[in-house]
Amino acid sequence: MEIRMTSKDYIEYIELVTKKIEENKDYVTELDSITGDGDHWANMNMGFQKLVESKEELSAMKLSDMFKKIGMLIMSTVGGSSGVLYGSAYINASKIIGDREYLDIKLLCDVLEEELNAIMKRGNAKPGFKTMIDSLYPAVNRFKLALEKDLDESTALRELKQGAIDGMNSTKDMEAIRGRAFYQANKGVGHLDPGAVTMCYQIEVLVDYLL
Ligand code: ADP
Ligand code: MG
Repeated sequence: MEIRMTSKDYIEYIELVTKKIEENKDYVTELDSITGDGDHWANMNMGFQKLVESKEELSAMKLSDMFKKIGMLIMSTVGGSSGVLYGSAYINASKIIGDREYLDIKLLCDVLEEELNAIMKRGNAKPGFKTMIDSLYPAVNRFKLALEKDLDESTALRELKQGAIDGMNSTKDMEAIRGRAFYQANKGVGHLDPGAVTMCYQIEVLVDYLL
């Protein structure tokens, strides 16, 4: 198996993520109502709906331009922390894609790592702060390690997915250091971080799409 994800493929993936987010409205809204201000699902849904509305235009773009445009659309549509964080992630990732026309496994890994670094920088946050980073960081690390060990692509993709799932679950017992849960009396302990959940959805859908 050798992956080659073009702009058109990426937009097909975006449509699947949009569906996954739509299906989990009540769950994600409830999580952010408990640990934050309750708008995380609405923010993410608004952003992805906007991307789907622009799918014809986006899928015809050069890969790096499409990433940049996705970042700009998210930044201008999505309120809340997640808009700025995902916007920066996509805009920074667009810069490392250059002239390449598809994501192969190595470039996909680099793109995810760049997104992770952009989010950590923009959010001034690290792993362990009970945020979306806690899904993405272990996912990227396990993906990278699998590729460094020269494991086959499907094994590496499964590592990416399992890293995200384990990372998401690890937020349950964390005390929030960033995000609105920090201002709660119990710092969100006992509940998953909603941003970690929607980040995990995106990685799960990506891997399922590619496998
Ligand atoms: P807001 O917190 O502004 O209402 P959202 O509800 O859309 O924005 O997103 C909340 C999610 O954003 C949190 O669950 C957390 O995962 C993530 N988050 C919040 N602040 C930060 C930060 N500084 N760095 C990384 N992620 C963050
Ligand atoms: Mg919120």
